[in-house]
Amino acid sequence: MRQKLVAGNWKMHASQQMVTSLLEKMLSKQAPSAKLLVFPPYPYLSQAIQILAESNIGVGAQDCSQAEDGAYTGEVSATMLADLGVSHVLLGHSERRQYHSETDASVVEKAKRALAAGIIPVICVGETLAQREAGETNQVVSQQLTPLVKQLSLAQLQKVVVAYEPVWAIGTGLTATPEQAQEVHAFLRSLVAKVDKALAEKMLFLYGGSMKPDNAASLLKMPDIDGGLIGGASLDADQFLAIGKAA
Ligand code: PEP
Repeated sequence: MRQKLVAGNWKMHASQQMVTSLLEKMLSKQAPSAKLLVFPPYPYLSQAIQILAESNIGVGAQDCSQAEDGAYTGEVSATMLADLGVSHVLLGHSERRQYHSETDASVVEKAKRALAAGIIPVICVGETLAQREAGETNQVVSQQLTPLVKQLSLAQLQKVVVAYEPVWAIGTGLTATPEQAQEVHAFLRSLVAKVDKALAEKMLFLYGGSMKPDNAASLLKMPDIDGGLIGGASLDADQFLAIGKAA
């Protein structure tokens, strides 16, 4: 039985005041059975870690550097994140692929850095609308996931979480139907099963793309959907917890 995981990607939305009020509101309510994670922007990681120190809610970063350390102005290394107490890192989010030239190769290098620092990579994959309409969804997500499956050891892969996020569903209000999402999740799991069946059964595959309290339950009940990666709705404590409860 895989424990459900619901993660909130705050993107570039935060202030010190917002971090305190959002997290304190979350802590004041009954915790859902799903494991919760939040991904604040870098400057607010320490604040979030402090507020959540006595809770079961984990804190992740939205990216990390491909380099170990050195002359990389503006970059943040995985070891720095681990030093702060960060447990997870998002890698390959479509916004980073689109605006920051993230590639499948850089995602693999970043995942290796994260794992070496003891941080769990949450790898985002997903097709654009044009790719879905051209019938290329499986080919695209396979191209994104396969380098990781090939280049990480089984011990490393065991720690990886995968998020299927159709690009056309992110921040658009459009959501994949439970059947569309399940089909891709089952396909992604089958790619891992080619390498190790037991590992594929244990690996968590999250769905992301306009998941909200009113569509979460139908997505999260699908057999291969192990949780959600939530953008907009994670900025509202009630909505985020409601998704956690639906899981
Ligand atoms: C995301 O950014 O990962 C995401 C899923 O956003 P939203 O829930 O707003 O579509």
